[in-house]
Amino acid sequence: MAKLIDGRALARQIRQELKEDILTLRNQHNLVPGLTVILVGDDPASHVYVRNKERACSEVGIHSNVIRMNAEVTEKELLDTIEGLNNDDKVHGILVQLPLPDHINEKAVINAIKPAKDVDGFHPVNSGMLMTGQAVLEPCTPKGIIRLIEETGCIIAGKHAVVIGRSNIVGKPVAMMLLQKHATVTIAHSRTQDLATVAASADILVVAIGKPQLIDDSYIKKDAIVIDVGTTRVNGALMGDVKFDKATEKAAYITPVPGGVGPMTITMLLENTLIAARNSI
Ligand code: NAP
Repeated sequence: MAKLIDGRALARQIRQELKEDILTLRNQHNLVPGLTVILVGDDPASHVYVRNKERACSEVGIHSNVIRMNAEVTEKELLDTIEGLNNDDKVHGILVQLPLPDHINEKAVINAIKPAKDVDGFHPVNSGMLMTGQAVLEPCTPKGIIRLIEETGCIIAGKHAVVIGRSNIVGKPVAMMLLQKHATVTIAHSRTQDLATVAASADILVVAIGKPQLIDDSYIKKDAIVIDVGTTRVNGALMGDVKFDKATEKAAYITPVPGGVGPMTITMLLENTLIAARNSI
């Protein structure tokens, strides 16, 4: 029976450490890390995510501010707002909550954020730094995934890691981080042939697809570490990409949904905001 990798417990422990580090920064440098979130439109899920981020910030002593813009805001107005934040010394982290309305070019918006304040780690400068082993601000979900894997005590070097999903925010960066930790990495996606055989060769299986319950035990090698990134709301309940009950019979470690990757994502955002604040000194 697989052991649970408890993302909530790990997140709690890291947040406690962050709280102490933030207090030290305040005492030694009179500096309070500041995060500004820009929320465009009224997507209910985005509002929930932003509220959670605000709550998490206040819990550890980060000053957070939310700029709410209506869905009709022009791209120019949004870019001007980002420019103002880029030049504001009290703002160390800038996050634009995605998705954006269709008339706004998401790439242009991400590219407008000063890389040193890009706490989501999505700016091409930060992706390039990650790619070349110079990362300062790594994307939050992949960073959280690595911590969850390391929490098992697993030595990543030499293991075969299979990442299912190749998005810019999860699949590609987590594959790059696993490679930097010397795993042998396979990236699978919707065109991968015989996905079950590929997945079942993994010592570490990261599933970031967004197709609830797609991965059953036939995709899992005995004693593998399984990280389920998927979160899809089905009839009001949050569902992962992995059939949890089946997977626990085969895996050595597994993350639950909810309570696995999700809490770590926000925690890594807090950590990135602290890193950005420290780097501003
Ligand atoms: P995405 O941009 O939609 O990417 C999904 C990836 O899955 C794509 O690369 C796609 O392949 C691949 N895929 C789709 N169907 C597949 C199939 N049947 N077999 C194999 N691969 C398949 O999604 P994302 O942003 O990476 O997010 C993935 C999931 O993680 C979502 O459920 C999302 O909600 C969740 N998520 C959770 C957190 C968290 O903090 N818990 C954070 C981020 C994302 P192609 O490239 O070939 O289309």
